[in-house]
Amino acid sequence: MYDEKRYAVRPKIEEGEALTSYLFRLAEANGTSFLGIIHTINTQDYLKIYSKRYYHLDLIPYRQVDVSLLESLLCMSHDELLSHTYYPAVAKIYDNPLDEIDDISFQLSLLIETKKRKFCRKCLLENRGYKLIWQIKDIEICKIHNIPIESVCRNCGKIQPFTREQMMIPSCVFCTYPLRFGHEDCVVKEVQQEFSIQLKIYEVWERLLRSKGAISSRIDDFNLQQTLALKMLYLSQSQENKYRMSRIKYLTKGEIKFLRRLIRGEDPKYHSIIGILIRFFLKSNYSIDEFQKVDVSKEFIQSMLEDQQKTERGPCFTPWCQYKGTTTTMFEYIQYKKANVTHHTSSICTSCFVSYGYDRKNGEWGEIGNTINLVSDIILPLLEVGVSRNKMGQMLAEISIHKINIIIGYMYNQNLIPKDYKFLSNLKLQTEEGLVNKFKILRKHVGGFRYKMVTIANKLFGWSALEYYIYYYTSEVQMYLIHNERKEEKEPRVHKDLDQKLVEYQEICKLEKKTFSSKDFYESYGVSHGVLGCYNLFDEVAAAREKQNEQLKSDEIQFYWSKAREYTEKKLNEEQPFNCESVYAAIGKRRKWLKENSPDFAEWIHQQVDVSKRQQAEIQLHQAKKKIKETIKQLVENDINVSKTNIAKYSGINMWGQIELGMYYHSLIENLGEGENSDAG
Ligand SMILES: [Zn+2]
Ligand SMILES: [Zn+2]
Ligand SMILES: [Zn+2]
Repeated sequence: MYDEKRYAVRPKIEEGEALTSYLFRLAEANGTSFLGIIHTINTQDYLKIYSKRYYHLDLIPYRQVDVSLLESLLCMSHDELLSHTYYPAVAKIYDNPLDEIDDISFQLSLLIETKKRKFCRKCLLENRGYKLIWQIKDIEICKIHNIPIESVCRNCGKIQPFTREQMMIPSCVFCTYPLRFGHEDCVVKEVQQEFSIQLKIYEVWERLLRSKGAISSRIDDFNLQQTLALKMLYLSQSQENKYRMSRIKYLTKGEIKFLRRLIRGEDPKYHSIIGILIRFFLKSNYSIDEFQKVDVSKEFIQSMLEDQQKTERGPCFTPWCQYKGTTTTMFEYIQYKKANVTHHTSSICTSCFVSYGYDRKNGEWGEIGNTINLVSDIILPLLEVGVSRNKMGQMLAEISIHKINIIIGYMYNQNLIPKDYKFLSNLKLQTEEGLVNKFKILRKHVGGFRYKMVTIANKLFGWSALEYYIYYYTSEVQMYLIHNERKEEKEPRVHKDLDQKLVEYQEICKLEKKTFSSKDFYESYGVSHGVLGCYNLFDEVAAAREKQNEQLKSDEIQFYWSKAREYTEKKLNEEQPFNCESVYAAIGKRRKWLKENSPDFAEWIHQQVDVSKRQQAEIQLHQAKKKIKETIKQLVENDINVSKTNIAKYSGINMWGQIELGMYYHSLIENLGEGENSDAG
């Protein structure tokens, strides 16, 4: 198809030559310019093509140009063309590179020099073209000649830019002095240590760029990147079955955190998986073949997923807490499930029992809920002036009496009730030793639900709501509730109640009227696609989505139904005719959609159209009668014989076969006769 457009002169492309380098040479050989070629193959018409972006051709050409057109122009196969770019490495790491193309080019640009052009003077002496691999930032030495890779002209001392105009002979962009000149002065690097590291870098990159095979097949439902992350973690911990961060070699803490976020399906930032992978190979000395063969044990994956991400807990901010400003009493608070959506690293201060966590939105450590504010700014000032609980309930419209009881029960245990507050002075509290046991009983009845316990506590022990909360906030009960939960934790934390979370998430979607999205679910709950696969929850996710779709659909149908109702009512009121088509048009939905999604609704529209038809028939009949009456009057006045034929002739209304009109005609004629008779009489 592009045969006529192919470049007539096609110089031989050097092995390992960068695509950009070859295009310069090609342009020159065909009497055009690099820019001329770019104009032909560019696909980014909305972006101005300018030299700063040329490097995309070497990184991922798809980002900038029409690759298949270029293949034809160069008479090159797809694979051969791409082998002169970094794309083969990218394809070994990402499942669908083109879906994440911007992100990948950014990550690559961290590893690859895209501003200046690097070269080995001795290589330029022997070969044409600039090699792809020279641009890698970590590569400092030519593997063949063991001399430094440079980027400066020996004559004018200027750094050579990544792109240039013409370059039949590789020469300085600024003074045309050949860049190979000066190779005699290049000193062979003598530090063997450095050279061997350089060789290793070459080896890894060459394997990534040149070999056709993948570096790993995917583990279960994890994607390629997640698979690579799992393998790196597993190998870094010497293939032990139990994940322990402290035993991981070769990876930095930041890298481990990044990899784990990636595995969990959270949004990974600030690192490049390619960079980590390369560093991993350099540090670990594992070969890519070993890497490819290793089987990550299921146990390791499990324990890695279970291991809670250790985020450092912040301090207690509670003004009345004696540990305020310290992290001494701050502990993990697993049971606070309600907070998982809004916060992570949920914690509780075991002195003041206020819960804290990191806000998922702004990442800041702070109180979960608003106990501090309720106590200090609202309830305490009222207690100080001696307002009773009931009075408070009346005064504070937006705070329920239940909440007031919670707060006062809490304050009671924190010694925050003013001494002279008379409304609590006659409270007869049991100083029970079996308090914890009673809470055990309550929990057996209703699980951990605080609200439900109140009612049961009243039934079983005769406690009022206030009494219940006073006991609830005693130190021993709180400690029991916090620690007991942890001991009973048998299942891995990350996946515990996953199905429950799904239900919870559905509720949120329903309330916030947002679409159920598995991506959003993974992100909100820190669960990756792979984790769901591990626990066979795909069906549940699909079912949840289905359920929500139905709900959404029914909302949608209701919406169209009300639109249709409005339309048909208006038309009927105005006595305007309408048919099914006009209703569909008014609501903007097709018949097919309605029939498929709500046959009832479609049927209803039919009924309304029938009503309209009857209304229109009624109107027509009425008009016809009026016309007949008028015509008869005219016939009589003009002394023309009153007959059905004449009426049809003068009014245009044919009554033959129209029973109702026929009857009407007869009744008129009869009246007419009577009238004549009465006139005569
Ligand atoms: Zn060289
Ligand atoms: Zn120069
Ligand atoms: Zn505290």
